[in-house]
Amino acid sequence: MKAAVLRAPGTPLAVEDLEQAPPRAGEVLVRMGAAGVCASDHHVIHGTAALSLPCVLGHEGAGTVEAVGPGVTSVRPGDRCILSFISNCGHCTQCRRGSPQLCDTNAITGARQYDGTTRLRDRAGAEIFQMSKLGVFSERIVAPAQACYPIPDEVPMPVAALMGCSVPTGFGSVVNAPGVHPGMTVAVFGVGGVGLNAVQGAKVLNASRIIAVDISETKLEFAARFGATDRVDAAAGDPVDQIRALTGGGVDFAFDTFGSVTTTRQAVDALGKNGVAVIAGLAPLGDRAGIDLVDLVRKQKHVVGAYYGSASPHETFRSIVDLYLRGVLNVDDLVQRRYPLERINDGFAALERGENGRGVIVFE
Ligand SMILES: [Zn+2]
Ligand SMILES: [Zn+2]
Repeated sequence: MKAAVLRAPGTPLAVEDLEQAPPRAGEVLVRMGAAGVCASDHHVIHGTAALSLPCVLGHEGAGTVEAVGPGVTSVRPGDRCILSFISNCGHCTQCRRGSPQLCDTNAITGARQYDGTTRLRDRAGAEIFQMSKLGVFSERIVAPAQACYPIPDEVPMPVAALMGCSVPTGFGSVVNAPGVHPGMTVAVFGVGGVGLNAVQGAKVLNASRIIAVDISETKLEFAARFGATDRVDAAAGDPVDQIRALTGGGVDFAFDTFGSVTTTRQAVDALGKNGVAVIAGLAPLGDRAGIDLVDLVRKQKHVVGAYYGSASPHETFRSIVDLYLRGVLNVDDLVQRRYPLERINDGFAALERGENGRGVIVFE
């Protein structure tokens, strides 16, 4: 069983042969169909996000259930599934409060399965972790059954893979933001995989202006295809000034899908009165943004975090699958590059170069 392992930060992923234990109670074995190359994996490779190592990376994926462990009734062999990178325990405080994307047990057990053990070993017999209990850069994975969301045959695997992270993270951060309404003005900072789906979320909600903000002219052009009405080139002048000029004072909603000290501060600065800044991108560990506190009070601005679309991932999956099948959500054009598992480091090189849309690992 081949999988791409990160052994130390700052090194390329190594495709290795691993031993895989069968699924235990409540777990499934999934044959991977496709896996997206996401910036969150890139952060781990470069040591700006913490993860137990050695670890199989990849948290955006889709595949077909091949076998189920004892007690699994929610899926069966043959089911094609989106994989949720936050599976939920169902019994912690956050799960019971209806926020399974914030599951406490998932956070505590991390890159191990829910019973605290691992399913992978290398040739030397050493334990290997799985990012988000998935590690989708792998021919097969053992994962919690509740990570699986079954989908119809009409959804191609590369599309379903993106529905595991970038689509729900971007789309959900918009449609589940507090107070969104038709006619709102929106700025989206960063139009990569997550940002393009935030643009689509704003379009689905009939935002009157959807301002794409990026430092890449080609990414800004690409964003128009997904519903952006205006472009702000942040490399060509202060994006806050440009947004204020376009909207007569600031936007109703600003989404930071990139996640950095600079973009978060700009997102808050770009708001008009009563505006809401939604921070969906993950900044490097330990970073803190400087926010103008007088402006925050006097303009009654709101700043909120949005993790995995701010809602139950399975509920977001349900709506994005429906919207995709109706032709409302464009996921096909997000898939820009395909690689076999052996060429995974080429996928990360394209991400670093800032190429449009998503690269996807496609399995045989
Ligand atoms: Zn991701
Ligand atoms: Zn839980």
